[in-house]
Amino acid sequence: MSRVAYVNGSYGPLSDAAVSVEDRGFQFADGVYEVWSVFDGRMADYDGHMSRLARSLTELRIDIPMTRQALTVVLKETIRRNRVRDGIVYLQVTRGAARRDHPFPAPGTPPSVVVTSRSVDQTRAEAMARKGVAVITQPDIRWGRCDIKTVGLLPNVLAKQAAREQGAYEAWMVDEMGLVTEGSSTNAWIIDQNGKVRTRDTQANILKGVTRTAILDLLEQEGLELDERPFSVDDAKQAREAFFTAAGAFVMPAVSIDGAKIGDGKPGAATLKLRQLYLEQARRDAV
Ligand code: PLP
Repeated sequence: MSRVAYVNGSYGPLSDAAVSVEDRGFQFADGVYEVWSVFDGRMADYDGHMSRLARSLTELRIDIPMTRQALTVVLKETIRRNRVRDGIVYLQVTRGAARRDHPFPAPGTPPSVVVTSRSVDQTRAEAMARKGVAVITQPDIRWGRCDIKTVGLLPNVLAKQAAREQGAYEAWMVDEMGLVTEGSSTNAWIIDQNGKVRTRDTQANILKGVTRTAILDLLEQEGLELDERPFSVDDAKQAREAFFTAAGAFVMPAVSIDGAKIGDGKPGAATLKLRQLYLEQARRDAV
């Protein structure tokens, strides 16, 4: 079955889908995006991603392209037309197409909206989670507004590629103090030697992950104590457990960092429990 994309008001074959070469997303990375995971054709953490989208657009002064209701129809229809049961749906909104010039285009220039959706092999993802994955570290060379989910992801791309070239799955980015900020496309967590759950606070220059927020709510349920204090690469090496979170990865155990084993080199029990609880909740509340 060929895949379908939504582009600026119409659905068509993904292979033919296109925006203008003068689209500001293409010219300047002047756009934002969101990714929802899809369970049984329904979107998980729906409100969290919608609210963050609105915030990203507002922060960059990109017009809201359509009502939330209309956008929901488009997201659902794209999932349906691609016959996705389990997978993801991707939305990108840019400041639209206009003659290439750095300042914002004339008021009224319509934002561009693109939606795609694809299936994910959840059996494979689950097998990976049972084994855990390797993480490497990379310097965080990003700009000062990583709280906005922009399509300007070049440092993230370079970090992820470095991970792949070193046989790892994810790269954790490290600031000039030697503290982990977040993953190239995930939020980073450890359970430290005292059994406390540590993750970078969102006052720092990181993305406020929607999955991160959901996990914070689950910690209490599991009787796990949170300590929103930054952790160093050494802290991670000495941690009992480590994991990362994102819409696509859910809760993924990290079993080594820069080649050093974390804990006994196997996914931690608390991590796997959080994954299970998150998946149950996400499936149940998907819309
Ligand atoms: N941090 C970065 C840099 C990301 O790109 C992402 C997801 O794309 C996340 C964290 C996790 O965010 P979420 O849980 O909302 O998917």
